[in-house]
Amino acid sequence: MVKKLIVLGSINADHVLNLPQFPKPGQTLTGNHYHIAFGGKGANQAVAAGRGGANIQFIAAVGDDDIGKTICEQLIKDQIDTRSIASIANEKTGVALIFVNQQGENEIGIYAGANAAVTPDYLHAYQQDIIDADAILMQLETPLATIASAVKLAKQHHTQVIVNPAPAQALTDEILSHIDIITPNETEAESLTGITVSCEQDADRAAKQLHQKGINTVIITLGSKGAWVSVAGVGKLIAGYQVQAVDTIAAGDTFNGMLVTALLEGKTLDEAVKYAHAAAAIAVTRTGAQSSVPWREEIEQFMV
Ligand code: ADP
Repeated sequence: MVKKLIVLGSINADHVLNLPQFPKPGQTLTGNHYHIAFGGKGANQAVAAGRGGANIQFIAAVGDDDIGKTICEQLIKDQIDTRSIASIANEKTGVALIFVNQQGENEIGIYAGANAAVTPDYLHAYQQDIIDADAILMQLETPLATIASAVKLAKQHHTQVIVNPAPAQALTDEILSHIDIITPNETEAESLTGITVSCEQDADRAAKQLHQKGINTVIITLGSKGAWVSVAGVGKLIAGYQVQAVDTIAAGDTFNGMLVTALLEGKTLDEAVKYAHAAAAIAVTRTGAQSSVPWREEIEQFMV
C-alpha cells in the first residue's frame, strides 16, 4: 500500500522581479526581468511531493479569481489530490511579491488572502483524512490556530507530524510537543530557540533545545552546506551537493516535500535527507518556485 501524505498549507501567486540589487528604503530600482509564478510554501511542498511520487492530498484555499483556478489546474497536473482545496468567495488568492538580486538571494512580502480562510473550522471537514494519513506536512503560512489543531489531532491519531517552521516565528511549547520532525533553516532555528546558528556547534545546541520540547528529529537546513540532522540528541552534518545556484526560491520547500516523500517510501532518514538535498540542489540551479522543482526521474539521474 502506498502511504498517504497530507500537506496543509498556503497557495500564492508569486510576482517575481529580478533586480541588480535590493532597493533601499525610499529607493526605486528598475528590474531586468518580471514574471508571475505559482508559489506559497504549502503549494511548493505539495508540488515537490507530487513530482517526487507521493500519494498526496493538499488541504488549502484559493480565492474565487482566475489565478486561483489556473493554479488548481496546475496542481492536478503535478499529481496532487486537490479535493480539499476550497475556492473562497469574494477573496483573493494569496500573493507573494518577490525581489531577487544578482546573487540569487530573495526578499519576500506576502498577502495571505484566501490562505487566512484555512481556519480550524475549515479543517474540521478533513479531520478523518488527517486521521487516516500516514504523515502530515505543514508550514507557517497557515493561521497558527489551524496548525495547533492539526498537530494535536495528528499526534493523537499517530499520523507523523512534520513541520517546516517557515516563515520564521516562535511556536508555543504545546505545538512543539506534538511535532515528530521539525525542519527550520538557520533563521527559523534562531526564532524558535533564540540561538544564532552560524556553525555546527550552534546547530547542535539549537537542536538539543528543540529535542527538550519533545521533538524527536530536528533537521536544521544550512543552505549550500547541507543540514544538521539530530535524532534524540545525537546530531551530525549531512552535506549537500555543490552546484551553481541561480535562485534559491523554494530550496527549502523542495527539500521538505522530497524529504517526507522519501521517508514515506521507506528510505532511512539519512537516505531521505540526501535525496532531499539532491532535489533542492537541482531546484537552486533553476529560477522560480514550482518551476524549479524537479521530478523524481531527474533526481534519480542527478544522484547517479
Ligand atoms: P530555505 O530555502 O528554507 O532558506 P536553506 O537555504 O537552508 O533553506 O536550503 C534548504 C536546502 O536546499 C539545503 O539543505 C540544501 O539541500 C539546498 N540548498 C540551498 N542552497 C543551496 C546551494 N546554494 N547549493 C546546493 N544546495 C542548496
